[in-house]
Amino acid sequence: MLDDYLLDQPIAVKILKNSIKKNKLVHAYLFETNGYDKIESFILAFIKSLLCPSNFFEFSDCSNCSICQMITDKCYPEIKFINPEGMWIKKEQLDNLQQEFSKKAIIGNKKIYIINEAEKMNISAANSILKFLEEPSPDIIAILVTNNIYQLLDTIISRCQIISFRKKSNNCNSELEFISNYSFYDSLKKETFLSDSDNIDLINNVKKFVDYYENNHFDTLLYTQKLWFNYFPDKEKNILAYDIMILYYRDVLNIKLGHDVLVFKNNAQELLKIANKNTNYDIVRKISKILNCKQKMKNNINLNLLMDNLILDLEGR
Ligand SMILES: [Zn+2]
Repeated sequence: MLDDYLLDQPIAVKILKNSIKKNKLVHAYLFETNGYDKIESFILAFIKSLLCPSNFFEFSDCSNCSICQMITDKCYPEIKFINPEGMWIKKEQLDNLQQEFSKKAIIGNKKIYIINEAEKMNISAANSILKFLEEPSPDIIAILVTNNIYQLLDTIISRCQIISFRKKSNNCNSELEFISNYSFYDSLKKETFLSDSDNIDLINNVKKFVDYYENNHFDTLLYTQKLWFNYFPDKEKNILAYDIMILYYRDVLNIKLGHDVLVFKNNAQELLKIANKNTNYDIVRKISKILNCKQKMKNNINLNLLMDNLILDLEGR
């Protein structure tokens, strides 16, 4: 039931529950997912709240209800899912939908259609659905789902009630997980990395190093002598640190290119500062220098020397 999502999405659940309770459902919802990873099951729970005769709305256990089972199995005849075919959602897909929905419902009195990745409607598809939205039928409910509301036509947005899902909280765990997936193939090594809470400090020290370098450039040579090898005494830790540096600069590049920050979501401010100080080319060059140094580590090179080299390389000398 919808309450299962109350912790994740308190506002969305509250709005939808209220509109069901007060019988104030609108004919079109726009779910702005913000990357919410349980959106699919959330939508099914919402639909069950609308259609279940055994009151799925109030009780989560509805094992006797064939309607809920059909919804779970995605074979309920009055629910239609539209997904992109290739790059786009095409006009024909929406024309077919409208034709099907013009017939009388076989079960129940509501028909629901869900357009996933709604931003992928091409212009003619968008215009087709727009007409459908402009002439709402009381028994039809539309759910448009998008992670990128800015790519939808304003005319579509204005005809929907927007339900904005909360962004996933960006804790250190997701950083750790991302880094472990990037750095280790071996699942045992991944586990060891994830279970060692010291690694959070290690990641923070790499971030501090990059931030320091971006402010102090050559002076960083002094910093590394003092601090770096306290934190990263051996080859293994150095390789890991280089990986983290690469990911950090990649996030700087993400900002420069207008993409979402992928790993270090809690460091948007620092990343932005670095982005403002560098051109795209600077960032790409720095990533490639770090990769080079990481490669050299395989040939038992002196780590001190390598670190000095890295700083000189980053400076472009
Ligand atoms: Zn049910």
